Amino acid sequence: MSARTASFRDAGNNSDTFDIVIVGGGIVGLTLANELIDTEFSVALVERSELKPVNEEPDCRVSAINRIALQRYSQTGVFDSPLAERLCAFEKMFVWDQTGAGQIQFDSAELGVPELGAIVENNVLQQMLLKRVLAAGNIHYLCPQEITDIHYPVSEDALLATSLLRLASGREIRATLLVAADGVHSRVRAAAGIEHFSKAYQQQGLVCNVTTSEKHQHTAWQCFMPSGPLAFLPLFTGQCSIVWSLDEEEAQQLMSLENGAFSTALAEAAQYKLGEIRAVGQRYLFPLSHGHVQEYVKPGLALIGDAAHNIHPLAGQGANLGIADAFALAEVLLTAKKAKRQWSALHTLSKYQRRRKGANQIMENSMTGFKELFGNNNTLVSEIRNAGLLLIDSLPAVKYRIIKQALGV
Ligand SMILES: Cc1cc2nc3c(=O)[nH]c(=O)nc-3n(C[C@H](O)[C@H](O)[C@H](O)COP(=O)(O)OP(=O)(O)OC[C@H]3O[C@@H](n4cnc5c(N)ncnc54)[C@H](O)[C@@H]3O)c2cc1C
Repeated sequence: MSARTASFRDAGNNSDTFDIVIVGGGIVGLTLANELIDTEFSVALVERSELKPVNEEPDCRVSAINRIALQRYSQTGVFDSPLAERLCAFEKMFVWDQTGAGQIQFDSAELGVPELGAIVENNVLQQMLLKRVLAAGNIHYLCPQEITDIHYPVSEDALLATSLLRLASGREIRATLLVAADGVHSRVRAAAGIEHFSKAYQQQGLVCNVTTSEKHQHTAWQCFMPSGPLAFLPLFTGQCSIVWSLDEEEAQQLMSLENGAFSTALAEAAQYKLGEIRAVGQRYLFPLSHGHVQEYVKPGLALIGDAAHNIHPLAGQGANLGIADAFALAEVLLTAKKAKRQWSALHTLSKYQRRRKGANQIMENSMTGFKELFGNNNTLVSEIRNAGLLLIDSLPAVKYRIIKQALGV
């Protein structure tokens, strides 16, 4: 997709000025842009890579999207697209401990909702969001365009700050509010001098699509093993997308196996809960880490999604947290604009930080805690863990508090 010609307000210095410039057109940046469609804000969304086309075969990068996000996407018309047929709603979650009898099941029927969430290919969700963004009169999609230079005027006592960005094409744009949605290695974050505390798990996420002999039953399956969790996420084709967290060495070893040997290793790891593995798609590895920033906002600057925080994928919550950031930031900006307040000022943006930082931090800590609890090989810890899972499974009130929190129900 080529860059659209922006109709811009001349800043009087040969650069285009937008109210809001979002850097990064991943799920999170596109979600924010979608929330700003047909508002009074002039918006530029800058993305360096063309969006992956949708193929007949499902893509292997998928996300489990929670109900809050699904409802909002429906309300805003994102799912008014034939691509929405590729969403696969899941009604149940089945979690078990490979080292014992511990297991826990969550069922949407017991919560009184039609589904717990839906699995969607990342590029499918992005295409649906992008279609709306491209049709919007107030949003300018600049893609493929890389930001090569960012000037964020760092001043201790400033209330407002306008950023100047240079694109690879040589074009310069100014932003009254600069939004970093440019992922875990955010360049915008670095340019604004915001420190990022990050830790590698020394693990890789092995991702691929598989065909199982048993049906997925619209259930998200998650097996905890000492080496890391293994998830089978249901796809609209009847296949499953797997995310297998592994230590570096084991990940490399599994990558080197022929499909047949890999299928056997996978079915054994999942204790044949979904039967044999009949076919395996291309395998990919993603390094796993977690990280967080102290400050989500500065005058005229906000961080959302992985640019602000990233977590272990074991509960499939990373994108959901970023989507919730985008919803919250849009709401704060629109409320301030309506009230004719300084919408890009630090005191306004701080409301967004207050709404999101604590929730994201709790999720990050929980994921790290889960990872350590389930990664512990000690027999006593394993017995307590398995007994704990069975106990929680028998206590509906506790169980559904946990799931409501995780799924945004
Ligand atoms: C193996 C794995 C499985 C996962 N499974 C799930 C799941 O089931 N559910 C879930 O909720 N989350 C999941 N996650 C997490 C989720 O994928 C991320 O949290 C989410 O994609 C982050 O989205 P984002 O838009 O913030 O960042 P990104 O997806 O990283 O997007 C950033 C965008 O910015 C662009 N960009 C970067 N720099 C520049 C620049 N200088 N100029 C222009 N553009 C730029 C990039 O091209 C990219 O498109 C998983 C993660 C992994 C690793």
